[in-house]
Amino acid sequence: MLLFSCVDCPERFALSDVENGKYFPSTGMCISCYRKRFKNRSLCFGKKSMYDPNTIACGEECPDRRICKGFVKHRKEFTKTKEIQDDAKG
Ligand SMILES: [Zn+2]
Repeated sequence: MLLFSCVDCPERFALSDVENGKYFPSTGMCISCYRKRFKNRSLCFGKKSMYDPNTIACGEECPDRRICKGFVKHRKEFTKTKEIQDDAKG
């Protein structure tokens, strides 16, 4: 049962996707959309050079702060597309 829909794309997700980190209910966005943000150089999302948890913008006000932190920390895993696609097939 697909309970969740992404705010940025037409994809829908199940509870298992939340557990597997493919969908983030706190922000309503999916991993693919976050990966796109990550690859977009004009956005700060997931950029190690821009992420600073000591600033209010990054540490308190950004709605993506927890996920961004994860991308900064595990960026190699998040940029791999194949594994996630294989996972999605089931
Ligand atoms: Zn999405």
